[in-house]
Amino acid sequence: MNSAVLSPLLSLVDIAHQFSIGGGVFKKAQALQAVRGISLDIRQGEVLAIVGESGCGKTTLAKILMHVIAPSSGEVLFQGQPLSSLSPAARAAHLQAIFQDPYSSLNPRKTVGEIIGLPLHVHQRMRPSERRAPVLELMERVGLPARFYGRYPNQLSGGQRQRVAIARALILKPTIVICDEPTSALDVSVQAQILNLLQDLQRDLGLTYVLISHNLAVVEHLATRVAVMYLGQIVELADTETLFREPKHPYTNALLQSVMTPDLGAGIPDVGLGLNYPNALEPPSGCAFHPRCPNATSRCATEAPPSVFTVGRQVACHFPSNARMAK
Ligand code: SF4
Repeated sequence: MNSAVLSPLLSLVDIAHQFSIGGGVFKKAQALQAVRGISLDIRQGEVLAIVGESGCGKTTLAKILMHVIAPSSGEVLFQGQPLSSLSPAARAAHLQAIFQDPYSSLNPRKTVGEIIGLPLHVHQRMRPSERRAPVLELMERVGLPARFYGRYPNQLSGGQRQRVAIARALILKPTIVICDEPTSALDVSVQAQILNLLQDLQRDLGLTYVLISHNLAVVEHLATRVAVMYLGQIVELADTETLFREPKHPYTNALLQSVMTPDLGAGIPDVGLGLNYPNALEPPSGCAFHPRCPNATSRCATEAPPSVFTVGRQVACHFPSNARMAK
């Protein structure tokens, strides 16, 4: 798919968000800058992956996209209109989410049919008697037999529960689905089945996905474009093939080296980076990656690199072409 010709569906405009940590009678609260300076277009029909280590800000960004939290500054636009100006029903019609853990995201007291049909009830789309047919149609589409309609989540396997969660996310026919680590809680044997299902649904229904993941094998399988985050900022953004073939940022390069480790579920290991992930309450000066970067110079410690746009790529590094020198 040539993502260069796709039009923006969702736009993040200079998004920043900070949390207040601690604080009390004798102690001042500290500001944790979870995301900063993020501007990004999400194009119709693409699968945009947001990757990075735990604490990089990708989950906060996903919550901003889902309108679960409002950014401290900046704006999210849906087709040019502020997302915050849409009614909850309109937002739900355009934006849905699939979460990591199908065990906790499904109500154990509701049947499969009730869970999948609930958004139709909440948003008053149909009379109760009319809901069964579209629910059964969607169940068939996601690979759930009709006999599961009256079953409860505890009677299903992990993969079947995630299929229920996918059907629930699609029942309102959204245009964008936020997929937050959609396979990381599943057995390895069913991960590929769920990934293939997500891929088929995206293609057949013309969906746009935002994929939040630390698993680069999943990202390479599903994504058409990848944004790499480090300490709340996007450090590299490129088409998947370009990024995996020729990473320009030293951090992206280190992440790609980590794909070779056998335990993908354990998170991204520090391949050749030496130091641990920095404390977000005390971000390093200059380029935030400089304490761990094998290519850092004295300039990197004092001067933050701007995000530079070239054909098909955006990278924030003073010496982007040096990425491969790190290994
Ligand atoms: Fe490394 Fe310097 Fe580039 Fe930052 S700006 S990634 S420290 S080379």
